[in-house]
Amino acid sequence: MTTIAESIDLIRRRINECARESGRAADSVQLLGVSKRQPVDKLREAHAAGLQHFAENYLQEALDKQAALADLACTWHFIGAIQSNKTRALAEHFDWVHSVASRKIARRLSEQRPAGLAPLNVCIQIKLSDEESKSGIELGEAEALCGTIAELAGLRLRGLMAIPAPVSGHDAQRRSFRPLAREFERLRERFPQMDTLSMGMSGDFEAAIAEGSTLLRLGTALFGPRD
Ligand SMILES: *Cc1c(COP(=O)(O)O)cnc(C)c1O
Repeated sequence: MTTIAESIDLIRRRINECARESGRAADSVQLLGVSKRQPVDKLREAHAAGLQHFAENYLQEALDKQAALADLACTWHFIGAIQSNKTRALAEHFDWVHSVASRKIARRLSEQRPAGLAPLNVCIQIKLSDEESKSGIELGEAEALCGTIAELAGLRLRGLMAIPAPVSGHDAQRRSFRPLAREFERLRERFPQMDTLSMGMSGDFEAAIAEGSTLLRLGTALFGPRD
């Protein structure tokens, strides 16, 4: 059986290889452990192996884990769908939110961010396919929402996030990431503070690196199948 430390090591090496092949610096790609539906013991193990960034999709589960791991220095990312009655808890308990997809949610997060904390790091979730189930805004709406977020004192605009429809094959995966990567580069001219392109999961992270991802969200590749 592979331990989590071994998985992390293996994945980090693969990330470094892919970055090198694309002519990118290895440290330009950050690794985020998607820990939804994984037991806290596995997060502890991952933390001991050097992983400090964890991402969760469900608020209550995340709060329970944060309490159980309060003795560890972790950075918490929220990547799930956001209901407006949950924004206060997100603003109070997370360092990053990747799934902002409306002005209303952005304003609430900013207003509810406690004054004693640094501004909340925010990515805008983009819908890359027409699937009804995927949340996020259209690529063409991103610039306006960037403009709103950039003005909000409680938020720090960091970048874009997307979950493309699953496709197989490296080239097809690269093609599905490309519009997001292009728009990210374009928006950076107007919003130079944007430094995060949050794309790439266990099944497509190699293609995501080739298309310029700066932050991979890996779950099963690190922790094994979810409960
Ligand atoms: C679950 C999830 C992931 C991780 O998926 P894996 O395929 O297990 O790596 C990444 N991003 C989001 C938004 C998710 O919901």
